[in-house]
Amino acid sequence: MKHKILIVGAGIIGCSLADEFTRRGAAVTIIDAAEVGAATSAATFAWINSNNKKPLEYSTLNVLGLQAHERAASRPGARWFHQTGNVQIAQNDKEQQALHTKVEQHLANGYEAKLLSAERVRELEPSLNSPHLTGGALYPKEGWIDTATMCTSLLNRAMASGATFVPYQTVTSIQQSNVTATSSDGEQRTYEADVVILAAGNGTRRILSTAGIPFPTLEPSGTGTRNGSTASAGVGIISTTGPVDAGIRHIVRAEGIALRPARNGGITFADHPTGGQWDLDDPRIWTVPALLLERARELYPALRNVSTENVSVGIRVLPEDGLTIADWIDHNHSVYAVATHSGVTLSAHLAESVAEEVLNGHRHESLEPFGLSRFAATSM
Ligand SMILES: Cc1cc2nc3c(=O)[nH]c(=O)nc-3n(C[C@H](O)[C@H](O)[C@H](O)COP(=O)(O)OP(=O)(O)OC[C@H]3O[C@@H](n4cnc5c(N)ncnc54)[C@H](O)[C@@H]3O)c2cc1C
Repeated sequence: MKHKILIVGAGIIGCSLADEFTRRGAAVTIIDAAEVGAATSAATFAWINSNNKKPLEYSTLNVLGLQAHERAASRPGARWFHQTGNVQIAQNDKEQQALHTKVEQHLANGYEAKLLSAERVRELEPSLNSPHLTGGALYPKEGWIDTATMCTSLLNRAMASGATFVPYQTVTSIQQSNVTATSSDGEQRTYEADVVILAAGNGTRRILSTAGIPFPTLEPSGTGTRNGSTASAGVGIISTTGPVDAGIRHIVRAEGIALRPARNGGITFADHPTGGQWDLDDPRIWTVPALLLERARELYPALRNVSTENVSVGIRVLPEDGLTIADWIDHNHSVYAVATHSGVTLSAHLAESVAEEVLNGHRHESLEPFGLSRFAATSM
């Protein structure tokens, strides 16, 4: 019998799931409160990496994420993974020493990394202006994802194989696998499926609260409680210039800034490491794009000819321990939830392994550490 799957949320996770479930023959409906890829997945640095990720099992999950993107990129029509490599530069001896240590640790874990001389950095990034450059590191397998293209392409591919996408449907309650959603004109509609997959990012916690089920992600704005202490719930700023030929060939990271080519032909910036951690009510948040452009112009003088074209405020999807949740919500196996930081890196691997678990009952070993049992008990 064909499995009937309802996916809530058409971000990078929901669209990847829709494509994977459809490929495996399930009857998929995907609904979203807004449009495809419009929430956190539209305001992300989208760097595909397992660079400095801790603990080891999370690092392994991210390596599998990168490898799944490499596999997905070899399929016809997949033009969203830009595997440019990532160059991190050092501009003083302390930074150089830190890079040395980091590269050694990565190599010891089997992650591809290479220490670079200043001359080699200049060969790789000939437009870089860094008079105090002491060297750098190259992570050749890393890259960035054009999330808008990935989300729409996967959704279109799923729809071409029979999936249904219904935008502007806000889920207002869930009871087992019965989901009630309200459209923008106030009309209520009920969806029934064999399995509901919640991939609603920062919305999943609220959806489950309608059934009285706690879900261990941080509040999506301002500060929240993390490991018992107050912490930022992960607001980050991403800004993009208009089109420019600044000669930036890789993801480039330097103290206080990360930059990369953007889908519009401009350059996308994030503050360290991928978007910083801000409070929404901190007014300094709005000074970030100008500061980033100023820093970037020091490194790439051609950026003096261009201005910021787009600023996005992204709100990370953060489980309480900052990692990943991929697990059944209930003992009857009618509702499954995926909520994660690093969701762009992890999307392709999570889609494959969650589809396998839901359809065939095999839980991928990489998911073992990322169940709900590590938090306080959650049951439907
Ligand atoms: C500043 C910043 C930088 C980042 N940098 C990186 C990076 O470099 N690399 C990386 O891998 N990750 C990065 N991330 C994290 C990554 O972007 C996220 O983990 C990922 O986008 C989450 O995708 P998602 O599909 O789970 O959530 P979302 O993209 O938020 O999608 C959830 C969808 O659910 C819908 N929804 C919500 N509530 C409801 C409801 N009640 N009913 C119906 N639909 C609903 C929303 O409309 C939305 O479309 C970054 C995040 C930020 C904020």
